[in-house]
Order: sequence, then C-alpha cells, then structure tokens
Amino acid sequence: MRYVLAAPELPATALVIPENRMARRRRIYEGKAKVLFEGPEPGTLVQYFKDDATAFNNSKHGIITGKGVLNNRISEFLMMKLAEIGIPTHFVRRLNMREQLIREVEIIPIEVMVRNVAAGSLCERLALTEGQPLPRSIVEFYYKSDELGNPLIAEEHATAFGWASPQELDEIMHMSLRINDFMTGLFISAGIRLVDFKLEFGRLWDNDEMRIVVADEISPDNCRLWDSKTNEKMDKDRFRGDMDKIEEGYQEVARRLGVLPESGPSDVTGATAIQ
Ligand code: UDP
Repeated sequence: MRYVLAAPELPATALVIPENRMARRRRIYEGKAKVLFEGPEPGTLVQYFKDDATAFNNSKHGIITGKGVLNNRISEFLMMKLAEIGIPTHFVRRLNMREQLIREVEIIPIEVMVRNVAAGSLCERLALTEGQPLPRSIVEFYYKSDELGNPLIAEEHATAFGWASPQELDEIMHMSLRINDFMTGLFISAGIRLVDFKLEFGRLWDNDEMRIVVADEISPDNCRLWDSKTNEKMDKDRFRGDMDKIEEGYQEVARRLGVLPESGPSDVTGATAIQ
C-alpha cells in the first residue's frame, strides 16, 4: 500500500496517512493561490497554500517556488499575533508545511485595503507618486467579484446591496485600523515598511451569536512590504513587475519575522513511502 507523508513536522506516528484517505478528502473550493478542503470536524476547513501566483485580474500566471510554504508560516504568525491582541481570526493551527486548520466562516464579499503609502492602483487613480506617504491611513472597500475585476465601492453600495450591514462595516473599519497600527509596528521592528495590505472578513457563528473575524491570509501575496532602509520591494509586486529574486523577497520577509523553516521553503508535502 502507498502512504503519503502529510505532516512532516509532527511525530513519526502522526506522519503517515493512507493515500486513499487523502484522495477522499473533499475539496470545497479552489482559488488562485489556495485550496480549501473539508476539515476534520464540522465547522472546520483545511486551507492549503499553493505556489501559484496571479496578477492583473488573472491575466498573468506563474509559480513562485516555495511561496505556499512561506505564506502558510507568515500568515500563521500574523494571525496568531492578532489573536494575542484580541482580534479574532479564522486561524486554528498550522497542520504541516502547506496546510492550516481554519474555522469555516461566511465570507463577506468585500476586500478591505488599508493604505499608508501611495502605491499600486491608488497612484493610477489619483496620479500620486509611488512611495508618497499618505496624510493618514486610508481604508477602502472593493467588491469581491473576479468577473467585475474587484471594483472600488462606497459603503453605500455594500449596505444597499446587503453585502454587509452598517454595523458590520463599522466593526470592519475599526478592526482594520487596529490591525494596521499593530502590524505597522510589528513590521517596523523587522525592518519592513507596511505600505498597504488587503484584508478579508467572515461571519463566524457560535450557536446564535455571530462574530466578525479576519479570514483568508495575510502574507506578501496581499501586503506591500518594502525594506525600511532601501525601499526594496519584498512582496508580490516583484512578480507583478517581472523583477528578479521573487522567491528571495518572500524568504526575507519570513526570515525577518523569525518564521523561515529551518529546512528551507522546499516542498516536502508530496513525499511518498512505499510499503
Ligand atoms: N491586493 C490583493 N488582492 C487584489 C488586489 C490587491 O491582495 O486582488 C493587495 C495588494 O497586494 C496590495 C493592496 O491589496 O497590497 C492594495 O492593492 P491595490 O488596490 O493597489 O491594487 P493592485 O495595484 O495590487 O492591483
């Protein structure tokens, strides 16, 4: 019988899962950079991080070797830090190099961008110079729709179309600014400037009570991270801009946060042993 090493960092007894059980695991959703599988208990999912990268509304596709391993670690680290300061997230625990256990939430179809420094689409929209500090942090809402290319929306659209209630938007705004303050400091101490980032939120039910929690991932795929001294980009913009050393950017962020796997970002999830 063939066995698959599914969790290389757990004790040897926990490592071996029969391949047919892996294959039976139900795939709930496959996105551009992640796959969601049914979790071990009701209300949980397994989030698998791929090396695939897309940009410009999916028109550019590529592979960033080891990205999934690094984003799994970086997102775990940041979500756990957020939990420490009382910000609820969907994260439960990391399972192995590429997977983490998360709570199943109802995703609010709004992408929240928090910006500290002018970059990306904001520069084009308002003719700003990249790198220009903003007068204050800005929170923007985009409608989460690939077909429409994630358009910028006003709060009015979100409430009128029922994507989120005014109370939910207030809470999302408040949480986003707190996350920004906290992560700005955390990245500064790692020599990194948090230029902007994207957050997604979900509704989590505990019996009859609903809480808004941070969902998706927080990683160099959805943050702009620049070296504080040189302003060198250490995030997905290296891929968007056809720059070199894309993998190295992700590795450097993980290294500075103290979460670079000792074995390096190589993929060991697929290792097999024949019995
Ligand atoms: N972002 C993202 N997903 C998207 C669009 C943007 O994660 O579909 C992130 C992006 O990496 C950046 C921030 O959100 O950190 C702000 O992006 P912007 O609106 O400037 O869009 P972009 O220039 O990336 O198209």
